[in-house]
Amino acid sequence: MKILLYSLLEPEKPYIKEWSDKTGVEVTCVDEMLTKDTVDMAKGYDGIVFQQTQDLEPVVYEKLHEYGIKQLTARMVGFDMIDLALAKKYGLTVTNVPAYSPRAIAEMGLTQALRLVRKLGYFDQRMDNLDFTWPGLESTEIYNLTVGIIGAGHIGGATAQLYSALGAKVIATDPIHRVELSPYLEYTDLDTVLKTADIVTLHTPLNESTANLIDKEAFKKMKDTAYLINVARGGIVNTDDLIAALQNHEIAGAALDTLASEGQFFEKKVTPEELPEDYKILRAMPNVLISPHNAFFTNTAVRNMVGMALDDAVAIINGKRPQFEVYG
Ligand code: NAD
Repeated sequence: MKILLYSLLEPEKPYIKEWSDKTGVEVTCVDEMLTKDTVDMAKGYDGIVFQQTQDLEPVVYEKLHEYGIKQLTARMVGFDMIDLALAKKYGLTVTNVPAYSPRAIAEMGLTQALRLVRKLGYFDQRMDNLDFTWPGLESTEIYNLTVGIIGAGHIGGATAQLYSALGAKVIATDPIHRVELSPYLEYTDLDTVLKTADIVTLHTPLNESTANLIDKEAFKKMKDTAYLINVARGGIVNTDDLIAALQNHEIAGAALDTLASEGQFFEKKVTPEELPEDYKILRAMPNVLISPHNAFFTNTAVRNMVGMALDDAVAIINGKRPQFEVYG
């Protein structure tokens, strides 16, 4: 069996080799994305695996079908670049990797929250000036804090477990109440989360109900000692309102793995001048931590993304049921 893997990322290489050695399935990797110009590369292969945010052109479905390929396997959570109706029309079973490592993202959120709580951004600033003093930077301890989770799904659930293990009180708002999370959190409403949490941590998808969910009204409800953690999607937070809330001391700080404007330089190296104004303002604040949307980036997550996708591709090629089929 031979599989073609599009859009190879350097860190994926060892895990692809590991999977291929274990299964005996040949995997050819190419840097190119799956497009109308590269779909011909799939000719002669039994299956394909890809990851990209750019939409697949209609001819891609048609050609894959023509080459006898039976699946469209995305090695990522999102599958919005796939037209499910077209996939169905051309007999292509669609799969994604819905949860490659919730812990990876949860641990990043926790790490940043601890850095904020311990005021390490301010200490770093003092240390840069060889100022070894402490006044004004007394911290709190995590087991005395209330953590409010907005969206307790895969990642929010893992986040609840981590904070609960540290002795924090964990509350959450989510339309779905998961009984398996009851040892770690108490469900409540959004207002209570915003008003009572010392750490508000976001883990919802970005959709109509969550776009700009954290806006000036929300910041007004939050404690002025509270921290906001966003390791979900930038658009959940209104960035202008966040900047205003920080400047007006309505909240104590924020950790942002993602910002609404990140698309302009996602996974790129840029000059200071190229940074959007919102990043410039936020970066200058010692109580704001910005990371390059790398919360997912652990060895476990990369191994799982590759392995779970390839396993599903093989299942479909062998006429078996994949684990993560996406239904239209
Ligand atoms: P999930 O689908 O498992 O969980 C999302 C939860 O949010 C669900 O329980 C859902 O019911 C809940 N929800 C939806 N709308 C809500 C609302 N208005 N209020 C409260 N809860 C609501 O998703 P997940 O895998 O846990 O991912 C969570 C977020 O993390 C997504 O935005 C995803 O894109 C993001 N993510 C970020 C990274 C990163 O590297 N930073 C990596 C992977 C995923």
